[in-house]
Amino acid sequence: MSTNKIIILGAGPSGLSTAYGVKKNSEIDIEIYEKKNKVGGLAGSFSIDKDIVDYGPHRLAIQNPQIKKIAETLLKSNILINKSQHGVQFKSKLYQFPPKIKDLINIKSIILISKIIISYFSGKIHWFVNRYGNENFNDFVHHQFGKYFLDQIAKPMSTKVWGDSNKIDPNFVTQRFSMIKPFEIFKQFIFPSPKLNPSIFYYPKYGGFQAIWDAMKDSLENNRVKVNLESYPTKIFIEKNKISYLEIQNKDQCIKINTEDTTVVSSIPIFNLLKLMNKADDNLLELAKKVRVRSMYLVIMKFNQNQTLPYRTLIFPEKKFIFNRIFEQNLYSRNTVEDNKSVIVADITFDKDSEFHSAEKIEEIVKAQVGSLKYVNIDKLESIKVELVEYAYVSPEEQTRKNFQFIERKLNEIENLELIGRFGVGEYDNSDYAILNGLNLSDFLSSKISKIEYELIKSGTSQEKILG
Ligand SMILES: Cc1cc2nc3c(=O)[nH]c(=O)nc-3n(C[C@H](O)[C@H](O)[C@H](O)COP(=O)(O)OP(=O)(O)OC[C@H]3O[C@@H](n4cnc5c(N)ncnc54)[C@H](O)[C@@H]3O)c2cc1C
Repeated sequence: MSTNKIIILGAGPSGLSTAYGVKKNSEIDIEIYEKKNKVGGLAGSFSIDKDIVDYGPHRLAIQNPQIKKIAETLLKSNILINKSQHGVQFKSKLYQFPPKIKDLINIKSIILISKIIISYFSGKIHWFVNRYGNENFNDFVHHQFGKYFLDQIAKPMSTKVWGDSNKIDPNFVTQRFSMIKPFEIFKQFIFPSPKLNPSIFYYPKYGGFQAIWDAMKDSLENNRVKVNLESYPTKIFIEKNKISYLEIQNKDQCIKINTEDTTVVSSIPIFNLLKLMNKADDNLLELAKKVRVRSMYLVIMKFNQNQTLPYRTLIFPEKKFIFNRIFEQNLYSRNTVEDNKSVIVADITFDKDSEFHSAEKIEEIVKAQVGSLKYVNIDKLESIKVELVEYAYVSPEEQTRKNFQFIERKLNEIENLELIGRFGVGEYDNSDYAILNGLNLSDFLSSKISKIEYELIKSGTSQEKILG
């Protein structure tokens, strides 16, 4: 593709990586506009008092050589190699994941495993009897893992994270879960394979996950990319299927940019982008209103001790816990949290704009529930704070995904517009995929690959997703 200039809206991992890839291959002019006063988007970090906290547990999986190389180039000596450490709290017991055989040799665990095995085989019989019917999320998990696993783990967990599990798009389920086979998981216990369970990851020694994106921003600026913070589009003018100019509001003024010879890459929420267009179709705006977005409360608890949790990240599938998981920030890097203190973060997901608990109520519930965990000494709690993330996930429910795809197809008719990112195209990806998607787009923008090749690569990577 030949373009004289690229304007990127949003400086999260997708937008930054697009610019990073283009600059590796070409000398095209690039400008980035980011609404916030820092880059990194949802994969960045924020400060609370003397501590740095990530927006959820982030890890840079280094199984992909491109990602490994970028991390090493950007972070240099500011890099830690961490080993995966997960726990699952279930029926008042904490299991390491993947579990160690010795932890399973007790009456409670043996009864639990027996129930899972019996239910697994009856799930296979159920699948055989119903094999010609359509499968929704619940059927898929029932047939793959059994009803016990569905009712006790998958359904309550997915309802907490994504909303009503009955409405989840079956295609999303097949893409995301088809690689997870119970037999493979069993094989993992005996012969652990790094491909199925990426156990090693990179994390910055200093600065939290944010350090990766700050380093990427520095590298871009050294390559003459202009990264404008606290700047966002206020109007997008479209004439004859082309964006002809943008109005951008920055700290002190509103500027008008001619985009006749420019490609605009947008990673900002698609529904917000639509609202800025002079020619937005009413039907598209109506569909956009029905896109379901999930927001998230992060409850940040600081303890007067060196470590609080037995493992770095704990998963809570049961309905009785309001949070989906808790991670311990200082176990990602000791340098993010004050010496001899520990910071744990619980996340709670809910429908944006729905009537949900207030931040004060959430604080109260989380404090009581965390305090009930055997391994947490709540007397050591020093402070508790709640942070709201308005845009956390696009719900993977069928109607939302259809609406998203329809809007995306329509916007693709605009010649000089490319959409990318978690809210730009509604991808449910980790930051690794955001980086790879940005690099793929950059190959197209800098004419290394054709539009058709780019489209093929895009649909290929979305088939390869693994559970993040
Ligand atoms: C709780 C949680 C845990 C996660 N855990 C992991 C993990 O362990 N590992 C992992 O790899 N990934 C993880 N992710 C996913 C990761 O955060 C995302 O994949 C990644 O941030 C997506 O990048 P993006 O650039 O597509 O979107 P975003 O990060 O959302 O970036 C979009 C950017 O656009 C900006 N923007 C929005 N509107 C405007 C506007 N109008 N004008 C200008 N700019 C605008 C935003 O401020 C933001 O900077 C997690 C995400 C969450 C929410």
